[in-house]
Amino acid sequence: MSLIIQKIEQLRQEIPPNVRLIGITKGVEVEAIAQAYDAGLRDFGESRLQEAIPKQEQLKSYQDITWHFIGHLQSRKAKKVVESFPWIHSVDSLKLAERLDDCARELSVSPRVCLQVKLVPDPNKYGWHSQELIQDLATLNQYQHLNIQGLMTILPLGLSPTEALTVFKSTRELAQQINQQNWSNLRLSELSMGMSGDYLLGIQAGATMIRLGRAIFL
Ligand SMILES: *Cc1c(COP(=O)(O)O)cnc(C)c1O
Repeated sequence: MSLIIQKIEQLRQEIPPNVRLIGITKGVEVEAIAQAYDAGLRDFGESRLQEAIPKQEQLKSYQDITWHFIGHLQSRKAKKVVESFPWIHSVDSLKLAERLDDCARELSVSPRVCLQVKLVPDPNKYGWHSQELIQDLATLNQYQHLNIQGLMTILPLGLSPTEALTVFKSTRELAQQINQQNWSNLRLSELSMGMSGDYLLGIQAGATMIRLGRAIFL
């Protein structure tokens, strides 16, 4: 049995069945993606469009794969991402959300998206601070072609497990706070939080989706 298949089977023991495991395949060859598929994985995520498109093309016969875009996205590439990814986790600004909404309207699709937040200051990460997000909700609520489903966060490096758990829990609380405002187009039931180094903490704090690269493919 291949190592990738073994790793996925081990992960399934740890991960509650309601948590969606997304295999992050940046830098991963299509052969390895096919092995993960054979182990039953159907959700895969990519962070760079130039890398993702040729791989999606090669894997075209695997029709039940769901592709997730997880990387920082420039507005000029928005259309291609909307064409190629039914899920976008990394919507990190109002400008990008507006552009994606326009593209979704043109293409008559409604991508599922997460709003990327950073609840602790981190110069290396994109995303809304909680106060900024609260201010932008009324505008986001008008983007009818986006299916805004949740929040996504990436932790800064170097947090202790306790600190990491606190940040993940704050992310969940922010989603609850927004849901209590009853926006017609913002129902945040998904929490995309947890990578190879911190997914157990993410799950503990209520993650519904975890994004694992190294834990599967390294
Ligand atoms: C690379 C990446 C991951 C996966 O990271 P690992 O540490 O390899 O699990 C998850 N989310 C995002 C946004 C990434 O860029």
